[in-house]
Amino acid sequence: MVNKNPKVCEICGKKSAIALLYGPHYYCEKHFTKFFDNRVKKTIRKYELFKRGEKILVALSGGKDSTVVLYLLQKYYSKAHDIEALIIDEGVKGYREKSINLAVNNCKKWGIKHHLISFEKEFGITNDNLMPVLEQNSKLGGTCAFCGTLRRNIMNKYAKKFGADKLVTGHNLDDDVQSFVMNVFNNDFDRMKRMGATAGIIEHRGFVKRVKPLYQTPEKEIIAYCAYNNLKHYNKECCPYSWTAKRNEFREMLNTFENRFPGTQYSILRFYEQLKKELKLDKTKTKKMENSLHECKQCGEPTEKEFCKACELIEKIKSEKIKIKNKKLKTKKKKQITTSKKYNKSLTCATTKGK
Ligand code: SF4
Ligand SMILES: [Zn+2]
Ligand SMILES: [Zn+2]
Repeated sequence: MVNKNPKVCEICGKKSAIALLYGPHYYCEKHFTKFFDNRVKKTIRKYELFKRGEKILVALSGGKDSTVVLYLLQKYYSKAHDIEALIIDEGVKGYREKSINLAVNNCKKWGIKHHLISFEKEFGITNDNLMPVLEQNSKLGGTCAFCGTLRRNIMNKYAKKFGADKLVTGHNLDDDVQSFVMNVFNNDFDRMKRMGATAGIIEHRGFVKRVKPLYQTPEKEIIAYCAYNNLKHYNKECCPYSWTAKRNEFREMLNTFENRFPGTQYSILRFYEQLKKELKLDKTKTKKMENSLHECKQCGEPTEKEFCKACELIEKIKSEKIKIKNKKLKTKKKKQITTSKKYNKSLTCATTKGK
């Protein structure tokens, strides 16, 4: 192994700004930026994420990951591709407005056309009014699971509507490694097979391919990249519902390992890639799944059932809301009966007094 001096950039010899311990690599800001850009370009080439001339829709939240992706795509790929951004408002008061503002401002600055779609308009529900319902019935699942399903529904639906060939998300190395480990812990083999730089295994005209240019980029480096390149993004408080996500536990565990044994996350990713290569995908099963897909009766998205997962969830929430409302009404009525009984009693007393 070449002995490197952590204090100086391994390319130019100037003072180093960052240490990437898995390498190890030591870079100044300028050479770190170059290294970072090249790795994203290599990821795009290696996994053939885009074909020349394809229209790209970037799912933009205003956070660091999607901001970096949009920045790099407009910097290197806007000549060969038509790039637009999709911003989704999940309806989280006091949190989402700020990140949406930053996302919109970046689009304006970089000359990217953007579309803003809200849960409220699309489904008549927001994350804020979803949470109290889920709290009443834990069997319905967590806010993040709901939020993810509804977001995927919007992303795919609008990607088709806007004529996009690829849908880009800001998922990074840490996200995918966490997902892999979570799938192992949950014994979810089918979900595990669908992971990768290109999400999903089903080829169907109803699905727009989701791709991840930051698939090989560690989260910590995205934070540093934003700082060195002055990329304005939302980095204040997290979504108030994020504490409900099981993923947080996995993030913490994997960060501990990465800090103690640099390179752990890359090892897990390579292991997964090797595993995926060895896996013989059951083509007949996949074909059968593809053939069984038809349009959801409610929203038109591909589904094997009558209604897609998002529409099913919305229905569940609506009926749960009605149940809660009825329960509240019953309690109110009960209270009214008791109060009027009391009132009648006191009336009787008063009447008796008057006699
Ligand atoms: S933390 Fe959960 S609820 Fe909040 S935006 Fe993310 S997925 Fe949605
Ligand atoms: Zn340098
Ligand atoms: Zn549907």
